[in-house]
Amino acid sequence: MTEQEKRIVVIGAGIMGASLAYHLARKGARVTVVDAEGIASGVTGHSFAWINTSSSEPDPIAPLRSAAIEAYHQLETELPGLTVQWTGALSYGEMTSAAPSAASNPPVANRLSRAQILDLEPNLKHPPESASYAPAEGALDPMATTQALIAGAQAHGAKVLTRTPVHGLAIRHAKVIGVETAMGIIEADLVVVAAGTGITKLTDRLEMPLPIEASPALLIRYKTQPNRVRTLISSPEMEVRQTAQGALLAAEDYLDDTTENQPDAIALRTAKAIQDALHGVVAIEPEWACVGLRPMPADGIPIIGYLPKVAGVYVCAAHPGITLAAIVGRLASEEIIDGEVSSALGPCRPDRFFRD
Ligand SMILES: Cc1cc2nc3c(=O)[nH]c(=O)nc-3n(C[C@H](O)[C@H](O)[C@H](O)COP(=O)(O)OP(=O)(O)OC[C@H]3O[C@@H](n4cnc5c(N)ncnc54)[C@H](O)[C@@H]3O)c2cc1C
Repeated sequence: MTEQEKRIVVIGAGIMGASLAYHLARKGARVTVVDAEGIASGVTGHSFAWINTSSSEPDPIAPLRSAAIEAYHQLETELPGLTVQWTGALSYGEMTSAAPSAASNPPVANRLSRAQILDLEPNLKHPPESASYAPAEGALDPMATTQALIAGAQAHGAKVLTRTPVHGLAIRHAKVIGVETAMGIIEADLVVVAAGTGITKLTDRLEMPLPIEASPALLIRYKTQPNRVRTLISSPEMEVRQTAQGALLAAEDYLDDTTENQPDAIALRTAKAIQDALHGVVAIEPEWACVGLRPMPADGIPIIGYLPKVAGVYVCAAHPGITLAAIVGRLASEEIIDGEVSSALGPCRPDRFFRD
């Protein structure tokens, strides 16, 4: 059997698992995607989905972020159902956002004056003195994108099993040989664990618990007037963008469990903040507001690569997972199939948690 003919089970049909499945199947691997629920049924389906390549702090994954946009452009040429809204992103003030942080003046961004800001976003009632604008950034429909990646994987022969929880990894002689499901063991030469916040439970059973927290954040969808927001605005008052279909999306921090901070209550407060910030928002009606659980590695750096001590398992957990899914899928598939070790993935290796 050649490396290309490897039988690979990917656990998780979120954007990360879907991207891995697509890139692996495209290289000729015999891929089976297994998900406990459905496609994009995890946090992916509740994501603000900003392809945000900026970072305000020294960033060990800067090379990954800087390749993220090109990787999506490449996918757009390969997959007809995958389109990104390349609107650019406007950031100002001190951010308290649910989405990944934006730097005040990142290298990918230009500094704009108030007049330039108004050219871009004429509906802003209180434009700041200056803002940072990342023209190459954009946002995507996470559900449609994940479905397009899965369809692309299927076009290259991948099988997809939904409503199939994986209860554990099957091991023989210190090697994982497949996944345990209610239908029995699905055998594999390699298991790729892209199960989001479900990863820790699966790796616990190998006695290699990976420290991935379930970090809550809120996504709200509103019905409102079209063309209120042209770019993606990230400010202290709001983090908003308007979809191609006209819905207004807002990302908010999860605060706590109290009545005043329930999703519906935050949705009403955020609606008021949006009306105060934008001209022409005559009516704004929350359609839904829900909490998504982001897979957040304890040290904030993605966890990508082979598990140490046991053969046959490759793990993939990242925040910001939407931003990184395309590039991680590509680089991980090159490691797995072509044996090309990626230096950009170097800081992400799981063995950093198991050194004595
Ligand atoms: C409000 C909000 C805003 C966000 N904004 C951004 C943003 O602007 N930009 C950005 O890059 N990221 C953003 N994120 C984060 C981003 O959505 C996630 O990082 C990304 O979606 C993670 O994808 P995933 O495929 O790893 O996980 P998931 O989408 O959770 O997929 C994991 C899948 O694994 C399955 N699974 C779990 N356990 C098992 C098991 N035992 N057996 C079988 N299947 C299993 C689940 O059913 C699920 O479908 C945001 C998140 C939220 C909540």
